[in-house]
Amino acid sequence: MKILPDDTIAALATPPGEGAIAVIRLSGPRALEIADRVFRGRKALASARPFTVHYGSIVAPGGDEIDECLATVFRSPRSYTGEDVVELSCHGGLFVSRAVVEALLSSGARAAAPGEFTRRAFLNGRIDLSRAEAVASLIASRSERARRASLAQLRGRLAGAVGELREGMQSLCALLEIDLDFAEEGLSVITREEIRGKIEGLRSRLEEMAGSFRRGRMYRDGISVVITGPPNAGKSSLFNALLKESRAIVTPVPGTTRDFIEESVTLSGMLFTIRDTAGIRQSEDPVESAGIERALESGRGGDIVLVVTDAESEEGAADQVLGRLPLREGQHVIYVRNKIDLIPDKRAGIVRTASGGTACAHVDLSALTGEGVHLLSEEMVSVAGNDGLGSDESLCILSERHAESLSEGARLLSGALASLQSGMTNEFVAVDLREAVTALAVITGEVTSGDVLNSIFSRFCIGK
Ligand code: GDP
Repeated sequence: MKILPDDTIAALATPPGEGAIAVIRLSGPRALEIADRVFRGRKALASARPFTVHYGSIVAPGGDEIDECLATVFRSPRSYTGEDVVELSCHGGLFVSRAVVEALLSSGARAAAPGEFTRRAFLNGRIDLSRAEAVASLIASRSERARRASLAQLRGRLAGAVGELREGMQSLCALLEIDLDFAEEGLSVITREEIRGKIEGLRSRLEEMAGSFRRGRMYRDGISVVITGPPNAGKSSLFNALLKESRAIVTPVPGTTRDFIEESVTLSGMLFTIRDTAGIRQSEDPVESAGIERALESGRGGDIVLVVTDAESEEGAADQVLGRLPLREGQHVIYVRNKIDLIPDKRAGIVRTASGGTACAHVDLSALTGEGVHLLSEEMVSVAGNDGLGSDESLCILSERHAESLSEGARLLSGALASLQSGMTNEFVAVDLREAVTALAVITGEVTSGDVLNSIFSRFCIGK
């Protein structure tokens, strides 16, 4: 059961610090009354119509004027939280905004906890849980793709898809129940084959949606690119060239990048997290060996592994690195032959090959002159695009929580199919179907626990 709050909360909704405007939000049954205690305008906000803006000043309880401000009035239920809301826009500044918040707190409001406004929006039925979470991921978006996917979720795309699946399961449950009634008369409204077809269809949709989290995770956290290769091949120089700024240490002494350095860049609206790691070679130095171990570990975790070698080095240098770095399934390798500027008449270029069914690319470039670096970044974008990142049309899951519920739903439907296969009655099949409906209800928050809500909303910022 949802327990609706009865107090009124206040918080700064804009980032603390100096700025043109700071917005302080007040929400709850006493929002208008409390705002009127500190706001002096031409008329009381309690008598103002909804969606109106009022000029006035903010006065501390002792009568001291704090600032000029604009007050925007929203009335329940047509507000972000579903409650009465007043937004006070005052001059941006740490002291001004803090004084306004304090005036509201001493006039009867309580300081809002992180995410409490959005939590109230959820509790008041303004948005489902998946949309509330989309608010947080939209704010946290670090790339165009993450922003678009979060906005689609905020617009209810995930909730809609989940709703359709639940409806599909519920109507199948209903058919199974009707079928049970008719069975007594020796009749059937749906064949076993039809039931199987429907469940398989629902399960594959669930699996497809859960599988889209791989893409969603990349949207959210970025595509991880690990630069590896022997010492002195030019890995740090390439890292810098890709980042277009000099953050990593570039030195002619082999074995200096002993740990890793990581930076994020966006290329074609996709976020890439690029990691420069220690050079891979046989080493007796325990510190360097530890760095090499971490480099190999990083390599194993990368979505894309760039194996950088010096174009002047002997054939097989890249294989030596890969020999120590067994790749896992789904990882992409791009071979980079660096320092082509040292080879007369050598031009930048890219060659794509397919060995053993795995496509890979060989890029010739110079990290020093920058020639050919764009070919590498284009290839990185293309590799990510081949993973489905290029298409924005399909729905994309952005959180582990949602992916887990969808996988749980698919697992329960597999159970239903197993019951069907082993000739059990429709009642048994319906049990798993109903549980799958519940698993999906967790995504939108129809079924949820206080702990889940606490963990979701504690990740929000205060004032949201
Ligand atoms: P790392 O050990 O693999 O990270 O290599 P660094 O990026 O530190 O580079 C090692 C040396 O090679 C430095 O002296 C760089 O200036 C040089 N270097 C890197 N890339 C190139 C390149 O494309 N051309 C030339 N001529 N030198 C390069």
